Amino acid sequence: MGNKEAPYLLFVNGSWRESSSGSTFTTYDPATNEPLAEVAQSEPEDVDLAVEAARGALEHKEWRELDPAKRGRILFRIASLIRERSDDLARLESLDNGKPLREAKGDVGYTARTWEYFAGLADKIEGKTVPVPGLRFDYTRVEPLGVTVHIVPWNYPLVLGSRGIAPALAAGNTAVVKPSSLAPLTNLKLAEIAHDAGLPKGVLNVVPGRGSETGSYLAGHKGIDSITFTGSVETGREVMKLAAQHITPVTLELGGKCPNIVLEDADRARAVRGVLRGIFTNAGQMCWAGSRLLVQESVKDKLLRALKKGTDSIIVGPGTSEKSHMGPLVSEQQVDSVMGYIKIGQDEGAELLTGGERAKDGGLAQGNFVQPTIFSEVDPGMTIATEEIFGPVLSAITFEDMEDALEIANRTEFGLCAGVWTRDISRAHRLAAELESGVVSINEYPITFPQTPFGGFKQSGIGREQGLEAVYSYCRVKNVNVNLL
Ligand code: NAD
Repeated sequence: MGNKEAPYLLFVNGSWRESSSGSTFTTYDPATNEPLAEVAQSEPEDVDLAVEAARGALEHKEWRELDPAKRGRILFRIASLIRERSDDLARLESLDNGKPLREAKGDVGYTARTWEYFAGLADKIEGKTVPVPGLRFDYTRVEPLGVTVHIVPWNYPLVLGSRGIAPALAAGNTAVVKPSSLAPLTNLKLAEIAHDAGLPKGVLNVVPGRGSETGSYLAGHKGIDSITFTGSVETGREVMKLAAQHITPVTLELGGKCPNIVLEDADRARAVRGVLRGIFTNAGQMCWAGSRLLVQESVKDKLLRALKKGTDSIIVGPGTSEKSHMGPLVSEQQVDSVMGYIKIGQDEGAELLTGGERAKDGGLAQGNFVQPTIFSEVDPGMTIATEEIFGPVLSAITFEDMEDALEIANRTEFGLCAGVWTRDISRAHRLAAELESGVVSINEYPITFPQTPFGGFKQSGIGREQGLEAVYSYCRVKNVNVNLL
């Protein structure tokens, strides 16, 4: 019980408040399954207040019509407070989600960088003039959308929350954020930071609560102007249906089954490091997990031997221990789902190269630990090669040549990320052009920056986050024509 946090409330209109019903939900430390914090459960009345506060802040114009350079300066202050409080934020993210402290520190650094990038863009959002016939002057105005909603998952709460909130605020919007009930704490800390940085009240509101209640009520709300949802395809579909009631625009960042393609001429040592990082970071709970290894037949044996060796040296343990390379999964339910996929892999005839069990030794039995697992001899049609497992399970598939690799890589309903490992630059670019993925990484995996667009093709999503694309996605374009006669 040593890690128990003080209770967390809702953040609405610049202040903390209890849920209108007084009810709370509990978050747990995934390393022990001990309660971590009691968090106020936002009821529909609370969501209404948060949406009203965000609308009010928009109408008072002290944010939307603030000198954009000043708006940027407040966002820069948020970034510096994130850096100042990085140790506390990293510890909290590690406790709430389970990820190793080292990864959580990386997340906090990435989050600060994201706020800095969008802070710098606040005064660079431009319209254009358009050539039209006659004595006319035609131009576009790029205006904020209004009240933006951000529904955030549990796997990278701080990074993925900020990835949507920062560009939305930079463009002059206001925001209502619904973090995941499994790991809501750092998004609530973000509200505190924004307040301390001088963000006007009502501009950022955070309403924690269960997805099926708070999330769905918020997504179907009449008073909002956009939804940025990051989560599973199944929930994304629900959110889209709710949004359709009021034709609310959606950005959807959904699941993946990303191929990591290793050609025979790849730098093997680098590829091994990238493949391991690509599947075992965050215990594989990543939309961009390189969960399908596509390896050329001629180098398969050597590569798999090296991968097994690397995997067997991974230390599994609590995220808050400096020694741990890989932490627990977020919940018991997630463990059951991953263990179910491991069983299906075995039943369908894949070969278990290493792992495949819950990790219990060394005091881990109470937590949600699963061994890092590799399956070889996987057929591209097997369940473990087609469905998102969202856990530390790699499925190794072999291919003959580049065309074969491409066909297997694209044989999925997802299209988020892909990795390519080769020293042949022309093959690398040809694959990059043909892969049906929103993000392609060559000789490095996974990699993304706040300034590079991120998002999926096919069922991996709609729209782009990060980069210039993100800030413009939080704007609406108005065309103005002036007859000069
Ligand atoms: P999830 O879909 O269960 O939940 C995501 C968020 O939606 C949570 O805040 C949840 O409370 C809320 N929610 C749940 N039901 C809802 C409903 N009916 N209406 C409105 N909101 C609802 O996803 P998760 O388990 O938190 O995250 C894992 C999934 O997210 C994986 O599929 C993963 O691939 C995906 N993901 C995608 C990206 C990306 O950038 N493409 C990034 C991270 C995670």
